[in-house]
This record gives sequence, C-alpha cells and structure tokens, in this order.
Amino acid sequence: MGSCVELAERLHVAADGNIVPGCYDLRILRHRSTAILARCCRGSPTVFAGILIEIARLPMFDTVRHVPLHVVEWRAADAQAAIDDIVADALAQFDQARFWPAHPQDDGARDGETSIYFGAAGVIWALDYLSRAGATRHAYDFVPVLDRLIDANRRQFAKLDYHAHGSLLFGDLGTLLVAMRLRPDAATADAIHERARANNTLPIRELMWGLPGSMLACVFMSEMTSETRWRELYVKQAARLLDELADTELGPLWTQDLYGSHQQWLGPVHGYAGNMVPLIRGWAWLGDDQQARVAEAVPRTLMANAVQSAHGAQWHPVAGRTGEPRLWQHCHGAPGMVTTFADAPFGTPELEALLVAGGEFTWHAGPLTKGSNLCHGTGGNGYAFLKLHRRTRDERWLPRARAFAMTAIEQCREARRQYGRGRYSLWTGDIGLAVYLWDCMTGEPRFPGVDVF
Ligand SMILES: [Zn+2]
Repeated sequence: MGSCVELAERLHVAADGNIVPGCYDLRILRHRSTAILARCCRGSPTVFAGILIEIARLPMFDTVRHVPLHVVEWRAADAQAAIDDIVADALAQFDQARFWPAHPQDDGARDGETSIYFGAAGVIWALDYLSRAGATRHAYDFVPVLDRLIDANRRQFAKLDYHAHGSLLFGDLGTLLVAMRLRPDAATADAIHERARANNTLPIRELMWGLPGSMLACVFMSEMTSETRWRELYVKQAARLLDELADTELGPLWTQDLYGSHQQWLGPVHGYAGNMVPLIRGWAWLGDDQQARVAEAVPRTLMANAVQSAHGAQWHPVAGRTGEPRLWQHCHGAPGMVTTFADAPFGTPELEALLVAGGEFTWHAGPLTKGSNLCHGTGGNGYAFLKLHRRTRDERWLPRARAFAMTAIEQCREARRQYGRGRYSLWTGDIGLAVYLWDCMTGEPRFPGVDVF
C-alpha cells in the first residue's frame, strides 16, 4: 500500500498527468467522496478503479464504536419475549406525575422529559402503537395524562433555543400528535395546525426542529383526519423547502442553519435525508416538476458524497468533510441514508447499487457499542437491512436484520444489568428497540414516528 503516485506508476499511467498534486495518501483519500476521488484522478478511469481497489485493502472498522455480532439463532419467540419485557417494564416504571426517569446515557436529559425524541411522548406513542399493531397484549390508558404531558412539554420547550418552531421531535407538535392519536378532537387538530403553520416563516432548520418535521406532521394528520387543510399546508412548505435546495459541487444540497452554524448536514435527523423524508412520504402531493427535481437530485447527491470501500459505501455527517468518517449509525452515516432512501419511489441503477453498498457497509461494520437503540444504536442500523429487504427482495437482508435484532436484545439486557434499570425513550431507548423487534418479526419496516404515527 502506498501513494497514488506509486499506484499510477504501477498502472502505467503518467502520474503527473493523472493525479492532482497533494492527493497522494490512500489513507486520506479513503475518506474523500467519490466526486473528490474522481477529480484527483483527473478523469482517468484506470487510476480511479485502481485507487478504489487499493483503498479496499485498507483496514476499515473502528472497534471502539462497534462490537461483534452475537452468534445467536433468530427466534421469533425470543423477540416477542423481549418486547413483552420492555413493555411491561415501561408500564411498571410509569409515574402519572413525573412520567419516566432519564437515563445517564442520554446526555442532557432530565427526569420527566416529555419529547417524542427521548421523553414521555415517544414512549407513550410506542406503547400505544405496539398495542394497536398487535405486538403486545399489555394495555394502559394514557388519555388522563395527555393534557399534563402537553403542558409540561410546553414549559420545557419554552426554555430551548428554537421554542418558536413547531418541533416534531422536541416540541408540542409531537406531544399534540400523540394526543391526536390517542384522543382525537377538533381542538387538538387546530392546535397542531397552528404549530405546524408557525414554520412557514421561521428558518427551515431540519426534521427534528423545523419545517420538514411540520411537513411530516401534515402527512400524519391527513392520514388521521382526511382534512384537506393538511395537504394545503404541506404543499406550501414543500415549495419553500425545495426552493432552498441548491446545486453545489457535491450535488444538490441544503445548508442547515443549526446550533449557531451553517453546514450541509446529510443524515435523516439534521440533514439532507431528513429533509427528503417528508418529500418522499408526501410524494403524491408534489407536482410533477417537484417529483422530477427530487428524483434527479437524490442519486446525484448520494453519489457525489459517497465514500467507497471494499466493505461498501459510507457518508460523512456533513457534505465535503475530509476527516475520517467515524459515525455509522442511523442519525449520521450509511445506515440512516439507506433507511431513508430505500423508500424512494424512484430509482436509477446507480442509486440501487449505492443503497446496497450502504447496507453492505452497515453489515460489515457490525452492531454499535452505543447500545440497542434506534438513533445511534444497533436497532436503528438494522432498519437499513429491513428496508433493503423490502426494496430488493434479496434474501440476504432479512436474516441480517434479525441477526442485529438478537444482538440488540442482548445489548438491551446487558445495559439493564449495568444500570439497574431500563432506558425510557423512543429514539434512544428500549421501547424503540421493541418496535424494531416487531418489524423484524413481521418483516415490514416502519421506522417509528417517521414511516408511521
Ligand atoms: Zn443519534
């Protein structure tokens, strides 16, 4: 293994004619996007192919962030037992006044969190969803606590930076949606509309805090009510969102104004994929030109930002980053890109190949040390396999999803032993894993709170 200049010489290509000066170290080039690699090769396909082969020989995976798979055979009865354990524990630990305790692994979370992301709204939604789906016989009437949940969330959210936004994952847009699901009424629907409409003029942000989240809320509300006002609001916000999609050297991208900086995030929570989620979910509401724009943009952006290796394709959290990509989880990296775009109602041969390559990378990287959860844990990564199974009908993906499930069950139990308690959170805790386990049993992926509400 050496420099690109040596490689070019071995390939009988004049190095000075085909390698851009400075692009010498394969260990650095490995972490550059396909577009940058191609530029370094000055368009020589021979050198480009040679570089990819050499890069493929480099050791890849970070053993600090990944753990080996548990070699345990998939058993649906074990998955069901784990769901039952998680649900029973969540119900047993529920406190009418204080909801659930926070977990030490959720940085910054306090006891009694209320959000969809890592608070009571997410746990209550998931418990109700699992019951509706037939995944558990446990039942609990949360309706009497809904008003208190909404009030507590408004108090918590008022202290946060983006308190003016209708926030799906942290604000009352999320808690009101849970109320609408459990106790539908016109006043709640009106309140959701008002909060979603607030995003019409505020900075777009991303799915967690801003306008893409309110677009997704419109999709959920249309499914729950069949009122036409949700489509009208969605169409207005979709036009604004697509207006801000800008062509760049690295394909069409949004620049997120987030946490005090302006960056081109890529993932499904803070970035490009997250902005595409509501456009894909509300596809039928887009105009022909908007559908064409999205269908043309996605393969181009994904190709331009993919970091290729023998183990598959990976993406940085932020476009154009050149350091070592370290995060291979749902919120940042290949798994979340695959989970999002494997639902795309369009495709090109390049996009199909890239999605499979992202799945392969996720598989070879292995389960995550951060635990069993959805946002940055083993369960979340497993959704990439379930989505690929549905898109490709390739037999290899479902067993992989289920292998991650068995490992995630053990990780969840180990964490319970270590901390002496469960982790009560939809995106970062045990109940999210329970939804993933159910989806592994049915083989039908529905990422909670995104694909289904
Ligand atoms: Zn995360």
